[in-house]
This record gives sequence, structure tokens and C-alpha cells, in this order.
Amino acid sequence: MADVRDQLAEHLKFYGELGVAGFRRDPQWRSRAGRHAGGAAADHAGGSADLRAGQELPAEQELVAIREDIGDCKRCKLCGLGRRQIVYGVGNPRADLMFVGEAPGRDEDIQGIPFVGRAGQKLTQIIEAIALKRNDVYIANVIKCRPPENRNPEPDEVEACERFLFRQIDVIKPKVIVALGTFAARSLLKTDAPISRLRGRVYDYRGAKLVPTFHPAYLLRNPGCRREVWEDMKKVRSLLNGEE
Ligand code: URA
Repeated sequence: MADVRDQLAEHLKFYGELGVAGFRRDPQWRSRAGRHAGGAAADHAGGSADLRAGQELPAEQELVAIREDIGDCKRCKLCGLGRRQIVYGVGNPRADLMFVGEAPGRDEDIQGIPFVGRAGQKLTQIIEAIALKRNDVYIANVIKCRPPENRNPEPDEVEACERFLFRQIDVIKPKVIVALGTFAARSLLKTDAPISRLRGRVYDYRGAKLVPTFHPAYLLRNPGCRREVWEDMKKVRSLLNGEE
């Protein structure tokens, strides 16, 4: 019981930190919690299916096929610049909501899973703040290998890698994509505008609605922008609920 109380206190504290003034008890907030909530929470979920020729593979298998196409990728110089492994993507293959970050950092490079370091913990809090779980959503990055010293990915690296992210998006078919931070937002939207100008608007993107917001690592350094992140996430929730 004490545990539950502690967890609740922890959640309330974070909601407060995000600048949330109150709660909605509206059950709709969970009603679209990932089109198939509880979907495979792995980047390599298999699953058997009875397919006829010409039929599309199920999303789980399509994602496995894309991962196989990437292979032990040597398409850009990052393979020789100290990356330990390819960080593909994680979550529900049929998620309504997808998050796209910049590139793996040190922790992600070690574990092979996106957003598992401090920024990842912040992202998990953000996801939970809109009544979803990490397993409900899908998380990936613009590029799949860690750049040395976490420098920004370079144009040739993006050029070599982004096609795989596009294929992931096209298979998952999320309703909403959240671009996390300047790099992801600029890279997806093919613009040089700063995130401060890009956020606050919704963009049509590969059949989804794209919502740019601040990167969780930026939020850690600048807690003052939690109000904006919360506004963006409320927008995400309304889009998922088909309210706009
Ligand atoms: N930052 C990112 O943009 N992606 C990660 O996976 C981790 C940190």
C-alpha cells in the first residue's frame, strides 16, 4: 500500500513539474491507448500468420524485415566511428503514437534500445502523463547509430539512414508522430527553422499528424519549458482521440 502511495506521489510530483494544473477523469483519455495496446514491446517481435500471396505482412513481420534489410549496416561512416550496435526502434508495431528522436546516445548504444538513458526516463514520464505506457507507443530515431561524442548527425548520415525510419513509419502507420527536438523536427520536416518556431503547430506527415516538441534532454536542462511540452502533449491526446 505504501508502495502505491509512493508511486502516486511520484506521479503527482511529475505532473506538477510539467505544469499540469488538474486531471481529466475522462475515460476517452485511455480509449485509444495505442490502437492495439499491449502489442509486442520489442523491436523484433515475430508472430506467425496465415498469409496469402500478395497480401501485406503483418506490421510485426514487416518491422522484422526492415531490420533484416538494415543488417550490420555500413552505409555511412558511423559504422567505423565507434558505434557498438544499431538501435532500431521499440514498442507497439501498430501504435497510434510514435516518437522520433535524433540519434542514440551512450546508454542506447550500449543497450540497443532508444531512449533508455536520462532523456529516456523523461520521455517515459511524458508518455505516462497522457495515460499511455511505453509499450503502447513506438519509439525510434532519425538515425540508428550513435554519432561520436553525441555530435549532431551529419547530412550524409541522415541521407543513408532516414529511408529506414520512413519504412518504419509507413508500416506502423501511426496517427500521430511526435518529433522530439530541433534535429528530429527539422530533419523530418526538411526545414532549417528552429524548434521554437516549429512547435505549436500540427503538420501533415506521411499520413500522420506530426507534432514537434522539445527534446526530453532539453527539458531536463530547461525545466521552464515543461508548460509548452504539456501543451504539445495535450494536443497529441486530442489528435489521438479524433477531437481535432
Ligand atoms: N536522444 C535521442 O534523440 N535519442 C535517443 O534514443 C536517446 C537520446
